[in-house]
Amino acid sequence: MPELPEVEAARRGIHEQLRCRTITGIELIRPGLVVAENGLSLDLLQGLCIEDTFRHGKYMVWQTEPMAIVVHMKMTGQFIARGTGIPGFVSGHPVPAYDSELPHKSTHLVLEFNDDARLYFTDIRHFARIWLLPHDELADHLAALRLGPDLMSPEFTLDDFRARLRRRNVGRIKPILLDQTVVAGLGNIYVDEVLWYAEIHPTRTAESLTDDEIDRIYEGIVRTMEIAIPEGGARIKHGKAIPDVGEFPFVHAREGLPCQHCGAPIVKTQVNNRGTYLCEVCQVSS
Ligand SMILES: [Zn+2]
Repeated sequence: MPELPEVEAARRGIHEQLRCRTITGIELIRPGLVVAENGLSLDLLQGLCIEDTFRHGKYMVWQTEPMAIVVHMKMTGQFIARGTGIPGFVSGHPVPAYDSELPHKSTHLVLEFNDDARLYFTDIRHFARIWLLPHDELADHLAALRLGPDLMSPEFTLDDFRARLRRRNVGRIKPILLDQTVVAGLGNIYVDEVLWYAEIHPTRTAESLTDDEIDRIYEGIVRTMEIAIPEGGARIKHGKAIPDVGEFPFVHAREGLPCQHCGAPIVKTQVNNRGTYLCEVCQVSS
């Protein structure tokens, strides 16, 4: 958390509500948030705007006139936009609560736009980063991350996914799906959702998977993204799915609650030191 759906919710909010608005104020409260090269600084944005946005996996890019800006929200990043001139949006980690007074003590960046629109970036764990890059270094910067295909891109095809899994035959399927060089965008929440949909136990080795099972995992990724992205991501707080917001996520953070396929209680376990939720009836280990 935040994973692809949460980052996409932030990107869409920024793209639809703040792009091409003049930046009238820049308050960088925690300078360590920003990694800058070649004398670049967020202050250069004064009087300018975010001209375009795109995303690859969990990385979001803002194109501005003086530089490219790469944002990674990491574990606890949260974007909230408010103001009289915009509808506003919330995305990312649920702490602090979306209706909290802002800036919060962990708000590290505030951008002010014309018509009293404000974008707050808050990160309670301080792992998030914003890189400022000359435009001509952006492609190399992204290439060095060796990201697999973005889950929403045309490059994410069944044939390519099969080939990537077959090349990674060693190891358990859950950590392989978490590896951003295999596919870009999945994290701990959505891998649990995908494997539950596909009825695959997370400790299965990649080499044990049949072609049909790999196809089901691919379908699970597509289906999970189709559900999560319109929702703006998962609503999970303190390790529990927040009730009253429908049935999604279906398995993650639902320990002890009935599996929505078979009714057996959802179990929490550890796979490669990651908290993992599954149904032991639907997802048999071998
Ligand atoms: Zn089940």
